[in-house]
Amino acid sequence: MALSVVDLYQKILPKTNCGDCGFSTCLAFASMVVSEKLPLRNCPHIEPEKLAAAENELQEQYKAGKWTKKDMAADALLWAKQRAASMAIADLPERIGGSLATLDGKEALELPYFQETILIQPDRILKKSGDPLNWWEQTFIFNHMAMGGRRMPTGTWKGLVELPNTVSKVKSMKAHVETPLIERFQGNPQALQQAGLAIGGEDQRDATPGADVAMLFNPLPRIPVMVTFWDEEPEEGYGAEAKLLFDETIVEHLDIESIMFLSERIKELLCDETD
Ligand code: SF4
Repeated sequence: MALSVVDLYQKILPKTNCGDCGFSTCLAFASMVVSEKLPLRNCPHIEPEKLAAAENELQEQYKAGKWTKKDMAADALLWAKQRAASMAIADLPERIGGSLATLDGKEALELPYFQETILIQPDRILKKSGDPLNWWEQTFIFNHMAMGGRRMPTGTWKGLVELPNTVSKVKSMKAHVETPLIERFQGNPQALQQAGLAIGGEDQRDATPGADVAMLFNPLPRIPVMVTFWDEEPEEGYGAEAKLLFDETIVEHLDIESIMFLSERIKELLCDETD
């Protein structure tokens, strides 16, 4: 039987996100093993018997050409859907916000998503305009539904490193979110400010003394994200700094992969806005 990314993650890998394989999460490593044939034994924490059996199965599926990247996207979405399926739509407003609506005669959740509105049913998510969301956005939102804790944001902001079990992702956050923001907006924080306002951000500089940009986003009702930016001060010897801050409750609403997806999405929207 072929091993999918989710099979590997759920049944074979230790799920500790220790980073010893060179990847920040077990899920990221699993996807590289399945799609790029990275040796499974690069994870040194798998019991030898389990490792041998899984390697045999992987060799078979590599030969048969199973699990392409497209399959993997479908696999991650299916898993997220399965996890979310236990949530009754009627319970969702209390958990993740939004309101109940009807779509094609069936109950749906209407949820603000960035500057759009999306409609969610157990087996599909689409924009209110009727446009589809891409695979990864759907996966991200189904994951949010599956986790959706009840707590409202408390207003206590934390950097990624201060959230539990995220140390291994700090490097990715720097490489894929903070550094691109610095490279794009260094010397021109006004452009970041304008891009933020254009995609629905609220200026929070009054509450963040010294920051050149402090912008609050509400990509989803229970998930505020703050983007802060300090421009370079060459005379003082400081380089530019960009940071994303999350409400402390975010870990009740999103897994680490989804937090990373959301952060990269915000970075993309800010950079696209100034293209
Ligand atoms: S080495 Fe990689 S796959 Fe293995 S437990 Fe650590 S992060 Fe997970």
